[in-house]
Amino acid sequence: MTGSNEGPVEPGPSAFSSMSRSPFTVTTLGTGAALPARGRFPSAQLVNIHEKLLLIDCGEGTQERLRSLGVNFQRIAQVFISHLHGDHYLGLMGLISSMHLLGRQSELHVYGPQDLKAIIDLQLRASGTWLRYPLHFHATEPVSGAVVYDDEHVSVSLLALRHRIPCTGFVVREKPGLRRLRHECLDRIPKFKRTAVKQGEDLVFPDGTLIPNAELTLDPLPTRSYAYCSDTAYEPALLPFIEGVDLLYHEATFTTALAARAKETQHSTAAQAAQLALEAGVGRLLLGHFSSRYKSAELLLREAIPIFPNTELSVEGGVFKVVGKE
Ligand SMILES: [Zn+2]
Repeated sequence: MTGSNEGPVEPGPSAFSSMSRSPFTVTTLGTGAALPARGRFPSAQLVNIHEKLLLIDCGEGTQERLRSLGVNFQRIAQVFISHLHGDHYLGLMGLISSMHLLGRQSELHVYGPQDLKAIIDLQLRASGTWLRYPLHFHATEPVSGAVVYDDEHVSVSLLALRHRIPCTGFVVREKPGLRRLRHECLDRIPKFKRTAVKQGEDLVFPDGTLIPNAELTLDPLPTRSYAYCSDTAYEPALLPFIEGVDLLYHEATFTTALAARAKETQHSTAAQAAQLALEAGVGRLLLGHFSSRYKSAELLLREAIPIFPNTELSVEGGVFKVVGKE
């Protein structure tokens, strides 16, 4: 568990607010690096935040992974591509094409390095394909903190990763919700006033009686956040941008024995990923992007845990909850 339940508890063991939270999960569709490995697929993740689906990276075969998990990929309206090494984006054209063949009409937004636009355009042109739906491309630059997507529930900003070609990570942050009604006050708040009270208004009755908002509500739940770091060498310059995130995904391509190889290819060891998680004070660390030389990723986990105990291995099809600090 990442959250702390210490500290004073507001009256009522079950403030009205403690009803279940909107989802915020990360499904890992592929955990492999570069070359195919038995049972592993290349990088792709599906983030569900408040029932909105974001796709992060789209390695070869991502659409089949989504299908096999029963995900209707027409619900995805935002796709974020970290960089143009094939294991992170070669599934994108297949997905774009299937969306078209299945009659999609709603907009698709793709965020990625500028060259990706030319790659998509060339393939569409060469195949004589006129998409039935609007595809909007948004070029990204590796600038940490730059916001690329923003709506009422979520913002997505970039991380400048350290890799052999321009590479961006992504931070997905939930926006603050409404104030929460205190359970014991519910019968004092007329139903038609509840939304206004949740928005922070005092309650004023026709006879002029006023109940201050603070007596009726609790603060909104702390917001939740997720950071995706792939591919990158150990990069302490990321710290201010990932500090305190609830869940950090960080690549862990190699064990410490291959630290020199990690440095040369601008990747990380599991121990380096754990070190960054420790320094950033994150809630939980999720490792991925395992080199195909490791038949089991347990070795990588064993090297990370002594440094950052709250570490897990991503697995194909695994669903990881972003647990906030309640
Ligand atoms: Zn790469």
